[in-house]
Amino acid sequence: MVRVVDRRSEAVRPSRALILHARTLEVLRPLGVTQALLARADIAPAADLRLGARAVRVTFGGLVLPDTAFPHLTLVRQMDVERVLAQALAGRGVEVERGTELTAVREEPGGVRAVLRTPAGPGEARFGFAVGCDGPASTVRAQAGLGWTGRVYPVEVVLADAELDGDLPGDAAQVVAGRGGLLFAFRLGERATWRLLATRPATPGRLEPGSFGPPVSAIDLQALMDQAGLDARITDLRWSARVAEGAEQEADQQPGKDGDQQHASLLSLYTPGGI
Ligand SMILES: Cc1cc2nc3c(=O)[nH]c(=O)nc-3n(C[C@H](O)[C@H](O)[C@H](O)COP(=O)(O)OP(=O)(O)OC[C@H]3O[C@@H](n4cnc5c(N)ncnc54)[C@H](O)[C@@H]3O)c2cc1C
Repeated sequence: MVRVVDRRSEAVRPSRALILHARTLEVLRPLGVTQALLARADIAPAADLRLGARAVRVTFGGLVLPDTAFPHLTLVRQMDVERVLAQALAGRGVEVERGTELTAVREEPGGVRAVLRTPAGPGEARFGFAVGCDGPASTVRAQAGLGWTGRVYPVEVVLADAELDGDLPGDAAQVVAGRGGLLFAFRLGERATWRLLATRPATPGRLEPGSFGPPVSAIDLQALMDQAGLDARITDLRWSARVAEGAEQEADQQPGKDGDQQHASLLSLYTPGGI
C-alpha cells in the first residue's frame, strides 16, 4: 500500500520554480506525465536582458540541448507541475492525504514505522519504506540521521504576484541586472498577471531555506524595481513572500541530494552573493 501525506492542508501554494529542467522531465517520463506538463509549458520563451539603458532580446526557441529528449528550455509553473503529478497519482488510485504530518519514522525489522499526526488525531502505521520528499527541513532526513550541513546565503529571494503599469512587452520575460541584485518579471503570475522574482541582501529574521517567509510591502517591491531600473509601477500587489536560500557545504555536494539543496547551489550561480 502507498500512502502520500502532506502536512499542508491546501493543495495549491504559490509556485517557486518556473523552469522545469530537461533532466526532471526525463525522470518524470516513465510516469506518463510529460505530455500533460508540456501542454502547460512555454518551450520557446523569450527574455529581454536589461543592464542600465541597454536591453537585448534573447529567444530560446532554437535551443538544442545535447543528450536529451527535451532539448528546450521549459517554462512552467511549479503549481501546474504539482497539479499534473497529483492527477497522475489520483489516476493510480492514490490521493494525497493533506493536513497529515509525519512526526517520526523508525526502522524496524523488514520495514519502517511512521508516526503521523492526522486531522483525526495521532496514529502509527507500518510500511516497507519511507520516502522523504519533504523539503530542505526534511523530517525523514533528520530521522535517518542524515542532517543537513548547509548554510543560509546572505542573499534572499523576494517573490510576488502583482499587476504592473508600464510599457512592458507581453511576449518576453524581463530580466534586469541591478546594483542590488537581479530582478525577473514573468507573465506567469498566479494571483495576478506578473510574477516578480528579485534577489536582495538577506533581511534580519531567520527563515527556513526554501519556505515562504512574511510578505514584502508594495513600497519595498517598488523600490527593488526602481533600483534595478525596471520602468513599471506596481498598481496592485496580490501576494508576496521572502524566501531564504540555503546551500549545502561544498564538501557535501553529491548527486542524489533533494531538490531544494541542489537548487540552492544552482541559484548561487546567478545571485550576487552566490558564486
Ligand atoms: C525562489 C525559488 C525558485 C526556484 N526555481 C526553481 C526552478 O526554476 N526550477 C527548479 O527545478 N527548481 C526551482 N526551485 C527549487 C524547487 O522549488 C524545489 O527544488 C522543490 O520545491 C523541492 O521539492 P521538494 O518536494 O523536495 O520540497 P518542497 O517543495 O519544499 O515540498 C515539501 C513538501 O513536504 C511537506 N512536508 C514537509 N515536512 C513534512 C512532514 N514532516 N510531514 C508531511 N509533509 C511534510 C510540505 O508541506 C511540502 O508540501 C526554486 C526554489 C525557490 C525557493
